Amino acid sequence: MRAAVLGANDGIVSTASLVVGIAAANAGRPELLIAAVAGLVAGAMSMAAGEYVSVSSQADSERADLDREKLEIATDERLEREELRNIYIDRGLDTELAERVAEQLMAHDALGAHARDELGLSETQRARPIQAALASASSFALGALLPVLLVAVAPMDTMIVFVAVSSLVFLGVLGAIAAKAGGASLLTGAVRVTFWGALAMAATAAIGHIFGAVV
Ligand SMILES: [Zn+2]
Repeated sequence: MRAAVLGANDGIVSTASLVVGIAAANAGRPELLIAAVAGLVAGAMSMAAGEYVSVSSQADSERADLDREKLEIATDERLEREELRNIYIDRGLDTELAERVAEQLMAHDALGAHARDELGLSETQRARPIQAALASASSFALGALLPVLLVAVAPMDTMIVFVAVSSLVFLGVLGAIAAKAGGASLLTGAVRVTFWGALAMAATAAIGHIFGAVV
């Protein structure tokens, strides 16, 4: 949920900023549309690639940890059982109970017990690079779709204001939703993303204005 909102935020901020920058250089609607769509595709691909690489390396290290654990369980089961027992003692079980829990879990699913309790890995939150990449790319694309649509419908003479204000309103709403989901203050959440969005658009508008005058 949080990741999806962040991805959509990225999509809105970067694509709307791109559009505002190019509009500030006096481009026409076709150029703006091409820029917006290209920004959507480029951003979504880059989010997918970045997420894939980062989650893959996380998956690699999880796999290496599991392989090492598997080897240790195979070669020194007693030591591994003691390791589990000590973990349960640290968590508040008395020695005798910890011993029994460790013994039974070792007999039931030794690797699973070590994965959960020693490495902190759980099946539901295993690193899945492809899913992560797709989720990241699609939330970005969904966010970026907003500026694309705005470019298509906004009147040319108020393009910059139209795109900037509508995008900021959306960012504010998304920020408030994210804040609500996280139990934080709605206003703070909304103001924070809106501020950074406005800053990004102001920066590209300035760049577009300068380059539009020079080139
Ligand atoms: Zn272990």
